[in-house]
Amino acid sequence: MTRMMQAAVVEAFGKPLTLREWPVPSAGPGQIVVKTEACGVCHTDLHAARGDWPVKPVPPFIPGHEGIGIVVEVGAGVTIVKLGDRVGVPWLYSACGHCEYCLSAWETVCAEAQFGGYTRNGGFAEYILADPNYVAHIPAGLSAVEAAPIICAGITTYKGIKETGARPGEWIAISGVGGLGHLAVQYAKAMGLRVAAVDVDAGKLAHAESLGADLLIDAREKDALAALKDGTGGGAHGVLITAPSLVAFNQGVAMTRRRGTCVLVGLPPGDFPLPLFDVVANCITVRGSFVGTRKDMAEALAFAADGKVKADIELQPLSAINAIFDRLEHGQVASRVVLDFGSQS
Ligand code: NAD
Ligand code: ZN
Ligand code: ZN
Repeated sequence: MTRMMQAAVVEAFGKPLTLREWPVPSAGPGQIVVKTEACGVCHTDLHAARGDWPVKPVPPFIPGHEGIGIVVEVGAGVTIVKLGDRVGVPWLYSACGHCEYCLSAWETVCAEAQFGGYTRNGGFAEYILADPNYVAHIPAGLSAVEAAPIICAGITTYKGIKETGARPGEWIAISGVGGLGHLAVQYAKAMGLRVAAVDVDAGKLAHAESLGADLLIDAREKDALAALKDGTGGGAHGVLITAPSLVAFNQGVAMTRRRGTCVLVGLPPGDFPLPLFDVVANCITVRGSFVGTRKDMAEALAFAADGKVKADIELQPLSAINAIFDRLEHGQVASRVVLDFGSQS
């Protein structure tokens, strides 16, 4: 008889998720099964459930790409993880391993990459089937709940900050200080940067200040841009846009210092116009950044294991997923919700 598990399933785009039974996966050759302990809820899960992006997942599917758990089944030929290991099943679920991007440690842009909770079922379920070559190895001393937001929100912002090229002592502006951004503030401080936090919510800005942000900018204010330029002496050397709002992209480019780099990680559907004269005449770089590589993952987790970065977490059960999505959509999640699947036996 097929063993069943509880899962939150997208049956149709734009509809509430269905809490239902789903067969427990089993590990084929080269695969593993992970028993979920915790899974963070990322704004990307909301985009996935709405079918927001040009490349769409195929319903029915199980979202969730911040799933952490214990390896409970190991398929034939798997040597890199063993039973009982704590691993995370991230957005970068797998890649081909031999294209020009994989060979140069840019597996995040591999054309054959699969995505956890998107093109492969993810962590909003009691068990996850995973590719052992791409799981995150959770360092000892980091709990499943603490590790969950690091494997997407953490790695994405850590990598994005590196991609700005901003150096210690220089300014970084972080636009959107929610799930991704509240970790970005901490990574940036730990990397020796001066941080300008930008958001449209007073509570998020106050939180950024408590995490060490040096300058707070309310993006709704008419003089937001002038305040950023004043406070940083001419604009931020690096800008990281995490906000899921197109307005933030125009503003973020304008906040970039001459010769600075504006890194885009937020993924609201749509386009935004680039002011060509300003970008050209100020020699500004605008660059996309997509999660991070396995090396970035190990580095991002090490900051957390060392206590330099700590996600602010609200625990919720899987059954609350639709209410969580509703709050996330309306900016009512303080930082990160993590689904708690209870401790392992
Ligand atoms: P979140 O909802 O937790 O946080 C978003 C924050 O942006 C909130 O604090 C909100 O108040 C703020 N915000 C909204 N409008 C703003 C504006 N105009 N200016 C400044 N701030 C504004 O979302 P999250 O989980 O942090 O995800 C953010 C975005 O990043 C999503 O679009 C998600 O899909 C994307 N994402 C991208 C990658 C990647 O690899 N590039 C990885 C993970 C998430
Ligand atoms: Zn994510
Ligand atoms: Zn590849």
